[in-house]
Parts: sequence; structure tokens; C-alpha cells
Amino acid sequence: MARDPRYDILFEPVRIGPVTLKNRFYQVPHCNGLGSTLPRGHAGMREVKAEGGWAAVCTEILSIHPSSDSWPFAQTKLWDEHDVKSLSILTEAVHRHEAMAGAELAHGSFAVANRYTREVPLAPSPVPNRRDPWQARGMDLADIRAYRGWHRRAALQARKAGFDIIYVYAADDLELLEFFLSRRHNHRTDEYGGSLENRVRLLREVIEDTKDAVGGDCAVAVRYTIDEFAGPDGLVSAAEGRDIVAMLAELPDLWDVKVSPWAEDSLSSRFGEEGFQEPFVAEMKKLTTKPVVGVGRFTSPDTMVSQIRRGVLDIIGAARPSIADPFLPRKIEEGRPEDIRECIGCNICVSGYTSGAIIRCTQNPTMGEEWRRGWHPERVPAKRSPADILVVGAGPAGLECAMTLGKRGYPVRLVEAERVLGGRVAAESRLPGLGAWGRVPAHRLQQIEKLPHVELFRQSPLTAEEIRALGAAHVVIATGARWRKDGVGRRNRKPIIGWERASVFTPEDVMAENALADPVVIFDDDDYYLGGVLAEKLRRAGHRVCLVTPASLVSAWTVFTLEQEKIQQQLIELDVEILANRNLQAVMADEVELACVFTDRRTRIDAASVVMVTARLPVDALYHELVADPVALEAVGIRTVTRIGDCLAPGMIAHAVYSGHRFAREFEEPLSSDLQFRTEPVMLHD
Ligand code: ADP
Ligand code: SF4
Repeated sequence: MARDPRYDILFEPVRIGPVTLKNRFYQVPHCNGLGSTLPRGHAGMREVKAEGGWAAVCTEILSIHPSSDSWPFAQTKLWDEHDVKSLSILTEAVHRHEAMAGAELAHGSFAVANRYTREVPLAPSPVPNRRDPWQARGMDLADIRAYRGWHRRAALQARKAGFDIIYVYAADDLELLEFFLSRRHNHRTDEYGGSLENRVRLLREVIEDTKDAVGGDCAVAVRYTIDEFAGPDGLVSAAEGRDIVAMLAELPDLWDVKVSPWAEDSLSSRFGEEGFQEPFVAEMKKLTTKPVVGVGRFTSPDTMVSQIRRGVLDIIGAARPSIADPFLPRKIEEGRPEDIRECIGCNICVSGYTSGAIIRCTQNPTMGEEWRRGWHPERVPAKRSPADILVVGAGPAGLECAMTLGKRGYPVRLVEAERVLGGRVAAESRLPGLGAWGRVPAHRLQQIEKLPHVELFRQSPLTAEEIRALGAAHVVIATGARWRKDGVGRRNRKPIIGWERASVFTPEDVMAENALADPVVIFDDDDYYLGGVLAEKLRRAGHRVCLVTPASLVSAWTVFTLEQEKIQQQLIELDVEILANRNLQAVMADEVELACVFTDRRTRIDAASVVMVTARLPVDALYHELVADPVALEAVGIRTVTRIGDCLAPGMIAHAVYSGHRFAREFEEPLSSDLQFRTEPVMLHD
């Protein structure tokens, strides 16, 4: 199909220095946890973006020197010729699809601790390291000269590796050049400190060095934080953040602008809408005639066009939208924007890197699997037989499974007990801030509608007998999981005393709007988002709410999705009482007994209702009933019964989608090896 002429502007080429982008879609640098140890995986992940139509595909941070070492977090380095060679795999992969490759040269200063190299951290001034009990050394003039030399060498190495866009990086509250700019971190009294002109000196010099080294062949981009969200001592877009741009406005070939810290830049959908960075990007655009790339979790082509037409930016930057759908530009170009798998803003992608693992995505189960499992986000293997499949349960796992089997060409019947499809997400996406999560079922249902050989049946709770009567060749059970009421969970491995009382509720009870008497105690032993979200929901509905958790932080695991501080702040501002480091010992009439997790000291608080957010149990009775009678299965021609998703092991939505996808993709496929997994060979050098 031809693309909608309204979107033509998105496909105009843009010149940046000596390089021309074929369109306005730009995959900005983003972390991925693959790093230098998994270069083929990294190249495979970037290649699908290039294939999907992004005009530029950038790396994440490339460390330019051993004094910038983020170990044990994955890092990609550009230190020596081996790194040049391994990054060449990536640039070749990107170039195969007429896209430009961008290299984000970086030095982490005091934001890294050099645990691998044991080099003393370097900073504009002697300040404590961000995490470790070690201080960074204030750089003297010789250090500054050396640093400029490392950056120049890395720029030349990046060009040698085949990169077309070379970054000078002063952003994200992670980078030496940003620290020199910011009064918060730069306490120097020499020509690199004090006045704004002095603090800008190093950034100016490094831009000039980079242009001098590679500017004839490569575009030189500056990635810049225009607002640090750190008060008047930091960069503020209405003050120094803007003044710095004014001083350097025409020096780089491209401005890649954003806010920091990372939690503000990769704002989750719970805390911000698409296009949330518009005021900051627009400020930048007023100050320069050079092309400006900005981000804002863009998934709607109308929003993109609007921002370009209104002069907010020139180039649509994307990290998360390109992770959720590497083929986003192609889908707009081919006139099928409704096929875009829209990012839901859950930040599970970020949680890979922040927890020391490789990238994964709730919406795109192939993310990170491109090379090691050979999974492509848009192509699936054709069916191997005419076998028909019954999928029971239309939550994320069942929907993904039915859709992917359908795309492979298999006849599928998808049967759901409820009228509303989407399983847990149908309910959770009605909770405060989680509306965008509804895109998980919505995308799959929209795709399934296009597949005539996938039939969907609602309001049809199936029994084992009915399943046998339906007589499919293969049965997939995706019946999900239910929250436990007995309080068994991460810290309590046996039921909590008094859990049988009528005053005890599950999260499903709260989501079903069951009446709760005040005060309400939410016991959160799950640590992820739900305890905090339920507290917010009940508080907004006027309840008196106390959140009890054995962790020291509310919704502790959301540290990895960059949401924890925002959640805690929000609950405090809503007057939710928070009792951290307390375990639930017993539920009694109108009160609960708590124990301090350090001292076991006991306290009691009033509780007319108790909500247990602890753990879930698989809804797997149907599965067990079916497999317990293989003779009955054989009699009706059912060859396999498989459980997937939460029915197999309750987890995040991302786990359920992955599980459904994996079953569907591997169904009847020959095993590539008993590992089902390619590991990256390590080259041993002399
Ligand atoms: P997952 O995350 O693994 O997809 P969910 O709990 O989100 O799991 O979804 C499971 C879905 O299965 C729910 O929509 C539920 O109504 C449905 N379901 C459970 N039991 C049956 C059954 N016996 N027949 C049909 N659908 C069922
Ligand atoms: Fe978007 Fe979530 Fe995927 Fe990240 S993990 S790209 S936030 S859908």
C-alpha cells in the first residue's frame, strides 16, 4: 500500500554535515546490555533497525579509554584495534540497509567506578564516585590534554570502524563533558571552571578536535542535556542550558537534545505521555539552524509530523519505539501504520541494562534474540504441517501465541473465558498510569483480525472435556495465574496467620472494585509495581492506606525501570503511609502484627482490610487434568498439550509474551542444536 501523503515529510532526506540521512527517522543511542562481549548479538539487534527503515542507527555509550569502565554493567569499548574490528561487524550490518551508523563516544568520569581496569576515576573536580566508596581525581591540565587525545583517537578509530556519525557526548548525567558544563560538578578555578565560557571550553575544544579529526567524512553530532532537572545549580533550559547552546549553536552538524537524568529522559508511561520532551527540544530548535533530533517515546506518525511542522524538531529520535518496533518507519512508509507495535513505556528494556542483563522488551519478544536465536521481528518460519491448534486463554501469552502461529499459517482457535480479552492486562491497564499497557492485547487483537484462519471465541470457559471434544491436533494452555490470598511469597514461605479472615483481599478483589473498609493495609512482598499502584488507586478513591513492605523501598524492583523514586514520591505526596522494612506476621480482627525485618521487634497497626500482594499461583488445573489422561487425549487425536505464560511460571507481561512467542516460533521446527541458542565465540589473541 502507498504511504499516506500526510506522512511524506517524515521521509524527506536530511543533510547533516557531510552525510545525508535518507529520512527523518533516527535511532538515537540506547543501552542494550550486549556490549563488547556480545558483538554479533549487538550487530544483529542494530541491523534489524536499519532494515526496518531507520535512516540512522547509533550505538550506545562507547567507552573511549580504560579510565571509563562501567563494569559489571555491559560496556562497549573503543579502546584498541580489536574493538575497531568488532564494531565493524555492526557498521557493515547497518550499511547493508542504506542506513548511517552513529558512534556515541563517551567518558563516564565519576559516574563509573572502573572496577575492571582499576584506573582512578577522573572528574572536573575531586568528588565522590556515584556508587562506590572511592573518589574521582580532579583533572589537571595534563589530564585534560590526555583526555582530548583519547577522544580524538577514538573518533579516528570510529571512522576506521565505518561509522558515519561521530558523537561528542555531554548528556544523561553520565558524562565527563556534561560534568564540566555544570556548576554542580565543576568547582575549578582555572580556565576550565568558574565562568560559563570557561566551563564550556572543553566541550568546544572536543567538538573542534572531532571535526578536525573526522569532520571531512563524518557528521559530528552533539548529544546534549538541555535541562538536568537538578535546580538552579544544574543546567536549566531557561538559563545556562540554553546559553550553552547559544554559544555553540552552529559548531556541530547535528544537535541530539534531551533531558536528564535517565529517569526523566526515559520517562515511563506511568509518569508521562508521548512527546513529553517537547518544551525542551523546542527551546533547542530556536537556538540553532543545524538539524535537531529529539525524543519523546514517539509512536504516532501524526505526533511526529506535528512536531516537525510546528518547528519543534527536524528529526524523529527514538530509542524505545525502535526497540518495540524496529520496523516502525517501514510500516509508515508502506501505508500500514496500524501495524506498528507501539511501545507501552514500561521500561523493561531499561531493566535489562540496569540489572546487568541484556535487553528484552515487553512488546517485542525478538529484541536481543536476533542473532543468538535467529529471531526476526517481522518474519516467522512458515508452518510445517496442516496441524490445527487450540489456544486456551487470551492473555498476553495466548494472544501472542495465537497471533504468531497464525502468521506462520497454522489454523488456530483462540478461546477465552471472559468477554474482555487481554487477561491480566485487561484489568491492570485500567489502574492509574497503566493505560498504555493496553497496547499489548490491542496490537495482537488487531493483527489477529487480519488472519482469517485464526478464530476467536469469547465468553467460553473451557473444561477438559470440552477441550477433548474440540479435537485439535495440539492444545496450548495459557490460562494465566491468580494472586494468592494466603500471603506466601518472597519472604514468607508459609501462610500468614489469619489469612483466611474475611478482611483479607487479593489484588484481583481490588481491581474488581470490591468494597474495602478503612484503614486498608497493603502488604507488598512482590516488590514490583502492583502494590504501589493499588495504594495509589485506593488512596485516590479516598481510602486511608498504609503500604507495608519488607523491602526498604516502595516498589523496590522498579529501581531497574527507573520509576522507584517517582513512585515513592507520589505515594508520599498522596499521604499513603509507608512502613518499610516490616514483614506481616498475623492478621487479626481490626489490626495486623508487623515484625521489623532487622530486629523482629513487633508492632501492631489498625487494619480493617488487608490486601496481599505477595505471589501468584498458576491456573493450571486444566493442564494437569488433560495430561493426566493420555489415553483420552490420544483417543481424540490430541498429540500435544503445552502450557505457556503465567500458567507455566507467573512473571512479568514480558515473560508471558516471550513464552507465547517462543512456543509459536519453535512449534514443529527442527532444533538447531540441543542448546537452541548461539553463544558468541571469544577470539583468543596472541
Ligand atoms: P498470561 O499472562 O500467561 O497470558 P493471563 O492471566 O493474563 O495470563 O491470561 C490468562 C487468560 O486465560 C485470562 O484471560 C483468563 O480469563 C483465561 N482463562 C483462564 N482459564 C480459562 C479457561 N478454562 N478457558 C478459557 N479461558 C481461560
Ligand atoms: Fe517500550 Fe516496554 Fe519495550 Fe521498553 S520494554 S521498548 S518501554 S514496550
